[in-house]
Amino acid sequence: MAQEITTLSRARELDKEDSLAKFRSEFYIPQHNGEDIIYLCGNSLGLQPKGAANIIQQELDNWKENGVEGHFKGIRPWMHYHKNFTSYWHDLIGAEEKEVVVMNNLTVNLHLLMLSFYRPEGARFKIIMEGHAFPSDQYAVESQVRLKGYDPEDAIIEVFPREGEHYLKTEDIVAQISQAGDELALVLFSGVQYYSGQFFALSEIAKAGHDVGAYVGFDLAHAVGNVPMKLHDWGADFATWCSYKYLNSGPGAVSGIFVHEKFATDKTFPRLAGWWGHNEKERFKMKKGFDAIPTAEGWQLSNAPVFSMAPHLASLELFKSAGMDNLRAKSLQLTGFLETQLKAAENYGTAFEIITPSESGARGCQLSLLFHERGKEVFDWLSQNGVIADWREPDVIRVAPVPIYNYFEDVYRFGELLTQGLTQEI
Ligand SMILES: *Cc1c(COP(=O)(O)O)cnc(C)c1O
Repeated sequence: MAQEITTLSRARELDKEDSLAKFRSEFYIPQHNGEDIIYLCGNSLGLQPKGAANIIQQELDNWKENGVEGHFKGIRPWMHYHKNFTSYWHDLIGAEEKEVVVMNNLTVNLHLLMLSFYRPEGARFKIIMEGHAFPSDQYAVESQVRLKGYDPEDAIIEVFPREGEHYLKTEDIVAQISQAGDELALVLFSGVQYYSGQFFALSEIAKAGHDVGAYVGFDLAHAVGNVPMKLHDWGADFATWCSYKYLNSGPGAVSGIFVHEKFATDKTFPRLAGWWGHNEKERFKMKKGFDAIPTAEGWQLSNAPVFSMAPHLASLELFKSAGMDNLRAKSLQLTGFLETQLKAAENYGTAFEIITPSESGARGCQLSLLFHERGKEVFDWLSQNGVIADWREPDVIRVAPVPIYNYFEDVYRFGELLTQGLTQEI
């Protein structure tokens, strides 16, 4: 790709040409001294869609007007609330309708899915995952291993970057999976790594795991709404994600799960059961004997948390009208612009460097900047000057320009402030 020229006028020109720029006005942008903040933190908590309040209000009204009958009345009766979400996942993650359900929160779902897909037996008891995975995932895996009576030291294999490198080579992941061979019960990787921003080669990882007879699952917290995926075709067995990062559905908002059709349609596949996963026609007969819904819905335990789901719907509507492939095309350009601008900075390489892969197919929108000096000072300077990014100990600033609401101008202004911060006496 030709190198972008990264000037303010070029940034403004790109915003003018951008057919997705109009989506910014669908979000509330926090303010700093009367101006829009440069919000580059959609990897942590996405901004509020303006449609969120109205859609929550509709459910408050349904409750107010109908009480318990809201389960069957109102614009979206609560009894089937989770079904409002089924049409969105083909575009976002390449799933069939029967493979996805929206429920619970992410770590809870990770546990539920591991109960289904981590069933160690005999010599096959190991789990392979990336080193330095998000702590909640590490704790989830360790506790599952202990529950099954194993020592995490023996049962968990972590794949680390080579000496002096910051992210993983696919060949190293595949080699370690093959090496673990028939001792491997589960391969569990994130889609996009929260710290390095690496987008893993999920189809190759799935293939390698299946070649040794292991199940393969993905934590898509940083991938969903960031990079388009083809989970069904790639053969993932399961996946889960949260909706409050790139999917802008509000703090603690509901999670989603993917269970490949092969297992989703198998009513006898092991799982924890609850009444909301039970055959809908029989649900209110209150009878003994769990009869799983033969789709991912069969993993539901409880009735839907409607108030946390409503804003998710408002956000997914925006993704539907923007289109995930269009968002990705803009995202590549937006992050490419940021990368070019940062690499042109005088102190690039000495004061800081980008540790996210430079190959665009191996990353999402986030760039992780590793500081060799003054990282925290620069971060504080940015915060004082109207930038919201995030700081990860000991020395990384993560910046995530999000195609659905960030302008090229945001990225440009961030780059300028960063170099100012590095060169000025702060
Ligand atoms: C954000 C994130 C979580 C957070 O888990 P919750 O259960 O939603 O609090 C877990 N895992 C990964 C990889 C994440 O990025």
